[in-house]
Amino acid sequence: MLVRLTDSWQDILARRQQAGGYPQAVTELLGEMTAAAVLMQANIKFNGALVLQIMGDGPVKLAVAEVQPDLSLRATAKVVGEVADGALASVGLSDLVNVNNQGRCAITLDPKDRLPGQQPYQGVVPLYDDHRHRIERVSDVLAHYMLQSEQLDTRLVLAANDQVAAGLLIQRLPVKGEANLAGQGTARSNEDDIGLSEDYNRIAILAASLKREELLTLDVDTILHRLFWEEPHTRFVPQSGENGPRFACSCSKERVSHMLRSLGALEVESIIAEQGQVEVGCDFCGAQYRFDPVDAAHIFTQPVATPPVEPGTH
Ligand SMILES: [Zn+2]
Repeated sequence: MLVRLTDSWQDILARRQQAGGYPQAVTELLGEMTAAAVLMQANIKFNGALVLQIMGDGPVKLAVAEVQPDLSLRATAKVVGEVADGALASVGLSDLVNVNNQGRCAITLDPKDRLPGQQPYQGVVPLYDDHRHRIERVSDVLAHYMLQSEQLDTRLVLAANDQVAAGLLIQRLPVKGEANLAGQGTARSNEDDIGLSEDYNRIAILAASLKREELLTLDVDTILHRLFWEEPHTRFVPQSGENGPRFACSCSKERVSHMLRSLGALEVESIIAEQGQVEVGCDFCGAQYRFDPVDAAHIFTQPVATPPVEPGTH
């Protein structure tokens, strides 16, 4: 599966420009995460939001990419502190998000029809491997996650700059009836299994040979041809335009009201006393929501509805 985000990715970065933009390494980190989140959502076809997050202990405290089942998406990063100049590969993933080996990567699946009180499914992995060595690539963090949580062999190649966020995902699908065959140990099933492993390994090695520059600059057909020209393959119709990945933010005044309500009346009143109003900006799209004293009082007198709390606002 291959994704190449251009307009949607540039849209996300443009919205951040008013807040000063991201350092290059953060742009690359967030772009790689966004491409990966699209690949994962398209791969599992989950009926709800897929949220890929890195909670960092370095200058990047949080990086989030969220993709809906219709592939609309949004992404943001919270940077507190100095990020060295240069590309992600030279700055190093650890120096951004895993300085003290406390960084975490989480994948959350939040069902669309979640019942009140029902928790979304979340898997969390550290940013180090089984030997506690720091992992220096987003693709390796996610491959590690897929192997640990889903027992799925996955190979990802990711790359991003300020124009393109792109990714290639190769995954070994579970063999039909594999669990049943495993116990029987017939010669036939073992041979099949070995053959399928060889196929996966060969294709994964070919995929891993794809260079960052190639992924960023070449069109899909050229990439597929370069990597897999010796393999028989079926090309699916690409999803683009209204059916493809595109920027969309799900923030709203109602969701912000709900978030303020969870802060509590005392907290909100103290902000009003200090600043005359409450102003909340959406980190994803840059929208500003303002509540004057009358609006703010209204929040606490309305009957309680139960939309989910907006995680990206503060
Ligand atoms: Zn928004």
